[in-house]
Amino acid sequence: MVETHTKAYAAKLDTADELKAFRNEFHLKNECVYMDGNSLGLMSKRAEQTVYDLMASWKEHAIDGWTDGNQPWYYLSESLGEKMSGLVGAKKEEVIVTGSTTVNLHQLVSTFYEPEGKRTKILADSLNFPSDIYALKTQLKLQGYDDSHLIQVDSEDGHMLDEEAIINAMTEDIALIVLPSVLYRSGQILDMEKLTRAAHERGIKIGFDLCHSIGAIPHQLHDWEVDFAFWCTYKHLNGGPGSVAALYVNEKHFGTAPGLAGWFSSNKEQQFDMEHTLTPAEHAGAFQIGTPHVLSAAPLIGALELFHEAGIEKIRSKSLQLTAYMIELIEHELKDFGFVICNPVNEKQRGGHIYLEHPEAARICKALKMKQVIPDFRKPSGIRLAPVALYNSFEDVYECVQRLKQIMEDKVYEQFSNEREVVS
Ligand SMILES: *Cc1c(COP(=O)(O)O)cnc(C)c1O
Repeated sequence: MVETHTKAYAAKLDTADELKAFRNEFHLKNECVYMDGNSLGLMSKRAEQTVYDLMASWKEHAIDGWTDGNQPWYYLSESLGEKMSGLVGAKKEEVIVTGSTTVNLHQLVSTFYEPEGKRTKILADSLNFPSDIYALKTQLKLQGYDDSHLIQVDSEDGHMLDEEAIINAMTEDIALIVLPSVLYRSGQILDMEKLTRAAHERGIKIGFDLCHSIGAIPHQLHDWEVDFAFWCTYKHLNGGPGSVAALYVNEKHFGTAPGLAGWFSSNKEQQFDMEHTLTPAEHAGAFQIGTPHVLSAAPLIGALELFHEAGIEKIRSKSLQLTAYMIELIEHELKDFGFVICNPVNEKQRGGHIYLEHPEAARICKALKMKQVIPDFRKPSGIRLAPVALYNSFEDVYECVQRLKQIMEDKVYEQFSNEREVVS
């Protein structure tokens, strides 16, 4: 029996890891322990290759690249949507790769927010990512309402949301609900199935922001009857900086006119008829707006292959093992240094990252970077550490905690100021 808090034990877990071969698919830097895959996933060799392939198709085909070559650009958003549909548990025509997270949220809210009679408010939460809240507020403004029409469910401890409190806030004046699947700070998973059922029992449409769950945990959006969802592709999906986002619309809403239309909302056969009356696509493709960002979609062609080969269930299972191991090591090695573990510890609610709080968090993160551990800092006192199933090893987790312990023992962080960087 090997003692669990040793490098030898981490190595043993790595030997037994079914996904260990995928680490070689990524560009990793020697000595560097990358724990920031929930902000920007690492570049895979496949993603790199498909970008080069796309560039070659432009060079070779010019305008005919829209319909010729291995990945005709005109159908790329649909074909990538199909490839991504398994990750969210949707039918292939319910997902389209398009836009950015925030633009997709604007699109979906302008489509599904239909204030009527007493039902005029939007329900969200107080812990969501700021961009979502900004978008919801401006959507309300466009309909002539002020911020008081945005109801944000509070958190008791500042880290977690209580699903019962959210359900209690689903009152008769709510027209639409937008919530995260996994909270970006604490990593709490919300029970999307339960919340969707509760919303529908009250006649309210509901959508989820999957930025922190896509590629980390499985979803069953279709079976849960979620109305809509949207997500970015540069975090756990490893699509690269600014890679094209995606959205899901349940098939029961096919035929609903897009709130923000453009010629790429069209049925593809009719798009080039150039009529001034839009004939929207009969599927999620109707929620596209303009010409797709083909160069920024290219890495996804390669990046998604890895998810197909590994399988999201195996990814989730390794991810849970990695975070459980990290929690165990943190509790054992760092107990004297004032860290508080603020992510849910139980598996049902624990997303893909660990969230620690410490009063010196900003400068501890700077010291970690100096020691080649890449975390991210969240104001005022949060440290996120994401051990990612496809490329992080158990030894990475071990190294991360050891280097953090060293920083605390030697007070290395004291040489930095406790302020955040411009991008943290
Ligand atoms: C990362 C993230 C975003 C980012 O939105 P962009 O439009 O891609 O910049 C939005 N919402 C959540 C919850 C996120 O985690």
